[in-house]
Amino acid sequence: REGRGGLRWYTQATAAANAHRETVNWALVLLDALRQDRFRVFFQRLHPLGLTDSGAHTPLRVEALVRLWDPKTNLLVSPGQFISPAERFHLIGEIDRWMLARVLELLGQHPALQASLGQVTLNLSAISLREPGLAAHVAQLLTRHRVRPDLLCFELTETEAITNLDHARTFMQTLRTLGCRFSLDDFGSGYASFTYLRELPFDTLKIDGLFVRDMQTDASHQVMVRSMVDMARLLEKPVVAEFVETEPVARLLADLGVQWGQGYFFHQPELLTVEALTEQARQAR
Ligand code: C2E
Ligand code: CA
Ligand code: CA
Repeated sequence: REGRGGLRWYTQATAAANAHRETVNWALVLLDALRQDRFRVFFQRLHPLGLTDSGAHTPLRVEALVRLWDPKTNLLVSPGQFISPAERFHLIGEIDRWMLARVLELLGQHPALQASLGQVTLNLSAISLREPGLAAHVAQLLTRHRVRPDLLCFELTETEAITNLDHARTFMQTLRTLGCRFSLDDFGSGYASFTYLRELPFDTLKIDGLFVRDMQTDASHQVMVRSMVDMARLLEKPVVAEFVETEPVARLLADLGVQWGQGYFFHQPELLTVEALTEQARQAR
């Protein structure tokens, strides 16, 4: 109703038009953000499970997560909102390359940080993987910024977009030869977990947080997490569990022998200064 007796029909066509307008807006927002350098890097620390009381120290691992700064509201927008429009408009490649350049630049400028960190994880969209020059580009940036390749781990999400397994395998092999690592993100929830596991050389499995979050109260989720952990053990691949939000879940995962936990129970993603990050990395050693 438009008031004063006016009436507007809300039809499927209107809904489609609105959705269309919304995605077109996203395209403009993202293009602007790329031009005006409005992306920011957040880091979320991983937590070594089962080592906490023994006094054994493990070099700090962090996952880099992109944020979009909106000058109108002065708020940071979560990638949950803009990654899929970015993929649709073929802007994700540029965003991923921006993150890569920014993180490697940061590491290159701060040798003390680089020396004390254990691993930095970057997310790569399957669509970015399709770009033929990406592996060479990564290698070039590593050399230019003098970053140890074994510091980098790339998380790939299993989406329908990994259409060309041969290409993905070549990309991974090129960077693995240099020393970079690969992790299968959202394991268990994707389109073809087993195919990717069989066909692509992953170093680590990251169990999808939707199984982990409530595994203490949901028996079937717990069964699935246990099976994934068993399988990873048989495949001799370390496991990261994300969305660890409570202490009982953290304890359960440690009992299962999961190597790393990540989630609000341990650490939030943060906009850290280099000094803060370096200090945290020093303390973890
Ligand atoms: P993801 O890679 O699975 O990242 C985990 C997401 O869960 C992050 O959301 C993180 O903030 C959130 N999270 C962390 N701990 C917890 C927890 O304990 N509970 C819950 N409920 N959530 C938690 P974020 O940063 O909004 O990222 C969303 C997704 O966007 C990421 O999911 C990733 O797929 C994508 N993404 C983020 N950065 C990049 C990037 O640079 N490139 C690409 N291609 N994708 C990215
Ligand atoms: Ca991830
Ligand atoms: Ca994930």
